[in-house]
Amino acid sequence: MIFWLYLGAAPLGAVAADHHALSHINTYGLLPDYYVDRPFICRDCGAAETWTAAQQKWWYEIAKGHIDAVAVRCRRCRQRIRQQKLAQKQHMAAMAARPRHPNEAFFRRRMRLSSKSSVDARS
Ligand SMILES: [Zn+2]
Repeated sequence: MIFWLYLGAAPLGAVAADHHALSHINTYGLLPDYYVDRPFICRDCGAAETWTAAQQKWWYEIAKGHIDAVAVRCRRCRQRIRQQKLAQKQHMAAMAARPRHPNEAFFRRRMRLSSKSSVDARS
């Protein structure tokens, strides 16, 4: 298991890294010569998952991910979070696009006045 480290040869199933594609990474540390599958436990649900060498190459070289960033959530949990964010974005867009209440100006003025009077009461 340790031999390939000293021999400099890539282990079985490794995907070669392209240092040119990693030029966005500004680090004093060494850049990887290749990627290997990394098993991990999902931070949210505890499922055992593998971050494959090909996925790592995509993340670091195509998506220009940070070299210290590693996969911590399984695919299902990442999809769930993505859905939640999308739903929230759609909700906020719908709220922003909704018709104004006819008395909104009145309520805004009232809120402004009440916050001003509370400030005045304190001083
Ligand atoms: Zn999970």
